[in-house]
Amino acid sequence: MIKGLYIHIPFCEHICTYCDFAKMVANDQLKEDYMQALVREIEYYSDLTEKAETIYIGGGTPSCLDHSLLEAFLYELSTNVNLSKIKEFNFEVNPSDVNQDFLKILKKYHVSRISMGVQALEPSLLKFLGRTHTIEDVFKAVELLQESGIEYNLDFLYAVPGQTKEMLLKDLEYIQKFNPHHISYYSLIVEDKTILNYWINNHKVTDFPDDIARDYADIIDQRLKELGYHKYEVSNYAKPGFESKHNLIYWDLEEYLGVGLNASSQYNYIRMKNPKGLREYIEGTKKHALNMHLLEDYNPKLELILMGLRKTSGINLEYYKSRVRNDVFEVYPILKKHLDNNLLEIKDGFLKLTEEGMYLANQVYLDII
Ligand code: SF4
Repeated sequence: MIKGLYIHIPFCEHICTYCDFAKMVANDQLKEDYMQALVREIEYYSDLTEKAETIYIGGGTPSCLDHSLLEAFLYELSTNVNLSKIKEFNFEVNPSDVNQDFLKILKKYHVSRISMGVQALEPSLLKFLGRTHTIEDVFKAVELLQESGIEYNLDFLYAVPGQTKEMLLKDLEYIQKFNPHHISYYSLIVEDKTILNYWINNHKVTDFPDDIARDYADIIDQRLKELGYHKYEVSNYAKPGFESKHNLIYWDLEEYLGVGLNASSQYNYIRMKNPKGLREYIEGTKKHALNMHLLEDYNPKLELILMGLRKTSGINLEYYKSRVRNDVFEVYPILKKHLDNNLLEIKDGFLKLTEEGMYLANQVYLDII
């Protein structure tokens, strides 16, 4: 049964230097064509999405859509999914797009959680990352979010080339001031085919040192704990009760449907992915949506471990057994080695990474992949 619905809107005003998501800058006509294609795909799957508990509209930058186009899309969505019954309806935003009219539209369609890409509050880092918002935009947006009463998450990055400890501490001070319900704090990863990767390969920028990144991660963990956040996944922190229900569907390997360009779905023990090409996607929705999907490898025995170990609570050993009909150590006896070397531990029926294991998780993953 599909528990989560992901909707991908790939448009951005500008391309960030580190980004490898499916995104693009597009003209109004292309945006309109794409949004119509999304509606066709959602209509096609309306039987499947009937019982969805969560929705996540991500991108790209979904908030960069023209308000009338956004409202028309949300209206169509509401005719296919009963939005008032959704337990968590997420929407990703850029700080400079947040204003009263925009929030009014989101509230009208029962959006209950906003995820805002702040990334950093140091102007030189924002410029380096290719972000177009300013610190003033963030302040204004946070104020409006607080007034709106909608739950909100702020996304931050650390280990950005040029980021000093003072800059990191300043960001943490701002977090204290903004007091969001949830924080996603990611270490900047240099992905292939990004401007940042090109800069590093051509010695224009030096990659961030691993040992300092680890110190920063410790500082973030400690400070957010002091501020009352519970770390429940490698990069995610929540005030009690504000964990992301939608993301937990992925980490628990539950069933979800992804619609839109390059979106992944997982149900009936298979995983599928939509096409990467915009034209191919739009034309595909005009024919028969299922023809567009490609099969990808799906190995629940492995993925339950990879996903489960991302959570600080770890893998429920009974749940693992009930899902794959085998004990985790029968499937991967090598994991016992990491109990002995203290990268893994078992606590209250859950297999999890130790504090040390969180940093050296790759050693565990390499043994089972
Ligand atoms: S706004 Fe987000 S999706 Fe768009 S280019 Fe930047 S990081 Fe990528």
